[in-house]
Amino acid sequence: MGIIVQKFGGTSVATPEARHALLNHVKKCKDEGNDVIVVVSAIGRNGAPYATDTLINLLEQINPTIIPQKKDLLMSCGEIISCTLISHFLDTNNIPSEALTGFQAGIITNDNFNNSEIIHIDTTTIKNNLAKGKVVVIAGFQGITASGQITTLGRGGSDTAAVAIGGYIKAERVDIFTDVPGIAKVDPRVVSIAPYISSISYDDIYKLAYHGAKVIHPRAVMTAKQFNIPVRVRSTFSNDLGTLISDKDVPYNDNIVGLALEKDFSYIKVEKEVLSQSDFLKNPDILLKKSENFLEAYYHKDHIDYPLDIEENSYFEKKDHIGQISIIFHENPEDETKKNLQDFLIHANLATQDIFWSDDRLAILLPLDHITQTVQSLYAHYH
Ligand code: ASP
Ligand code: MG
Repeated sequence: MGIIVQKFGGTSVATPEARHALLNHVKKCKDEGNDVIVVVSAIGRNGAPYATDTLINLLEQINPTIIPQKKDLLMSCGEIISCTLISHFLDTNNIPSEALTGFQAGIITNDNFNNSEIIHIDTTTIKNNLAKGKVVVIAGFQGITASGQITTLGRGGSDTAAVAIGGYIKAERVDIFTDVPGIAKVDPRVVSIAPYISSISYDDIYKLAYHGAKVIHPRAVMTAKQFNIPVRVRSTFSNDLGTLISDKDVPYNDNIVGLALEKDFSYIKVEKEVLSQSDFLKNPDILLKKSENFLEAYYHKDHIDYPLDIEENSYFEKKDHIGQISIIFHENPEDETKKNLQDFLIHANLATQDIFWSDDRLAILLPLDHITQTVQSLYAHYH
């Protein structure tokens, strides 16, 4: 028996039912003889009083320009409230526990405020508490710089905190508890019949997560791979084991890992000279099309700053509200497969605006309001 890290997301700590389910998972894991570390996110989603977005709103209402250190200080409070509450709840249910902020837990980060990276975890305090037989409940999403300033790990960063804690303390496994039963081939909110995957490799889930599958944070996957620690994504509300993420390469009979969706893309078309010198083009995530006179670019507004210092009237065309569907392949598909898929896209009369192939991904760009229907058609085509 070893150490198991159990991470619970915002919806998994928000209601009495969820907290009871959490309690059962902790109890079961302890009863099996393990030491248990619980990592929690802030309670609820935007609008809930202590959710991260709600806290950010408090500051933005005063002034939307926020000093990054202060934003981190306030954002970190959400997880601190959550870990205190869950620890008190466990104590009350006869499971002695210790609540630790990220910094009390020894999580040291760099000083890239609002999106810091963990550079070390001093696990002494966690270990001392485990040795006393306590469950250690840690506030996710946060750490401290070497000079003592509070940091956060980027939105969705509680997953990364949980995996890193597991890695540094040499846990047997990290369980990420969430409100869906695991990782599906397509977001089950879009295709309700999409099957869940029982196991997936670090590399394959990274591709899905990076291109928009919300179920686990891509940086958490990278961290898991670095430490080679198995991670399970599973439901808070059942005992099913969900999806196991590990270094094991899983074969696919259709060569398709899954479909991922991303919103909030923008498109610009400009005369070639306007952009040719710009740093904007160096971003590897930009999808580019060059013709004789024009450059067309699709980019994710959340990932990079709005390009450019281009004069308003030099845009030939400009659109937002574009979505991206990525078909993620396990191995680079053969030309034949690519051609069939392209034919299907043409003949199925879908709202596709553009497609881009990279080695193991087909990116389909289209107006956001067609994304759901197009994913459903693609899914039906394959199954
Ligand atoms: N509460 C943080 C966020 O909303 C971290 C997390 O939930 O993982 O981004
Ligand atoms: Mg999350």
